Amino acid sequence: MSGAQAVRSRFSSPVTTMINLLDQNRENLNLLFDDKPYRGSQIFNWIYGKGIRDIHQMSNIPGQLRDELAKKAVISYPDVVEIQRSSDGTEKIAYRLADGHIIESVLMPEKDHWSVCVSSQAGCAMGCTFCCTATLGFIRNLGLAEIMAQVLYPIHAYPERTFRNVVFMGMGEPLLNYDTVIDAIRILSDPDGPRISKRRITISTCGIIPRLKTLGRDTEVGLAVSLNAVTDATRAGIMPVTRKYPLTELIDTLKGYQLPNRRRITIEYVLLKGINDSILDARQLIRLLHGLKVKVNLIPLNPWPGCTLEPPDTTTVLAFEEQLKDSPIAVMRRKEKGNDILAACGQLAGGKSHGGTKTY
Ligand code: SAH
Repeated sequence: MSGAQAVRSRFSSPVTTMINLLDQNRENLNLLFDDKPYRGSQIFNWIYGKGIRDIHQMSNIPGQLRDELAKKAVISYPDVVEIQRSSDGTEKIAYRLADGHIIESVLMPEKDHWSVCVSSQAGCAMGCTFCCTATLGFIRNLGLAEIMAQVLYPIHAYPERTFRNVVFMGMGEPLLNYDTVIDAIRILSDPDGPRISKRRITISTCGIIPRLKTLGRDTEVGLAVSLNAVTDATRAGIMPVTRKYPLTELIDTLKGYQLPNRRRITIEYVLLKGINDSILDARQLIRLLHGLKVKVNLIPLNPWPGCTLEPPDTTTVLAFEEQLKDSPIAVMRRKEKGNDILAACGQLAGGKSHGGTKTY
């Protein structure tokens, strides 16, 4: 069977819906051309490596096969509906998904490269009280194309920029969209794809224990865990997920986590005034993390419209940091970026973060 026939036969169902090639991992693309799997590799490279959006640009694919493919498949990106630029250079991109939902990602300039912070879900089910995304509730998991587009779009829209890091710290809980996030990581780091090194990809999670148990085996990316409190009572009050996965179990799981060589887990700790910011909290944090290869990232709360919590004052933040500095644990304060456009950690809510009135 010719390649064209293979494409035809695989998609000759009477209910023809176009397939989105941007939604296919390497295995699926190879299956499209099971007589000539190298065609799948070529197409993989066009879509994920070169970022083309028109099947007819695939110049190493025979014309007849391109025509056949174009009858059955598209390369479809979510629409970019808004790009906001912060005074510090951070940019927030809002995408409209095919079903109308809005997701956001953030581009962060570093000294000589850029990082992309991507969303893994529309909305979020976790209900953390300090996070604006939580106010949306859970809408749905993002598909592969919707995650890949958040990296491919900026890479190809801004060829003068070097995008080196991808962090899954945008909207949603990446470990609750596990298979798709793993697929996306494999494509991102593929030598035929955008070639983002796995060392420069980080997943941030609130601590979904069953998934943490497989993640280190399934991929070798960096891990960040949102801890945010040192007792179950305090943590459950701000992160309901604690009731399902208590702190001691989370810490035990992290102790068993298979880390790539010489790497440390990042522990994210959002400082909330009067809730988790005392010297006692800092000391308990040191005890809790004893024996773990970690670095602590302190993040004073980024407020958003309607948020009832507050960040501690600078003196309190510095005192907390000093306690940790006196211990063997590495600590840093996260430089907040993009607060003025609600693009910092926990401020993403697809227009709702602007008071719920924004329409695109
Ligand atoms: N669900 C994942 C990823 C999204 S949240 C997770 O929980 O890690 C990404 C990071 O932003 C987390 O560390 C979270 O604790 C932090 N965060 C959420 N809301 C915040 C806010 N308002 N201010 C500062 N950091 C916040």
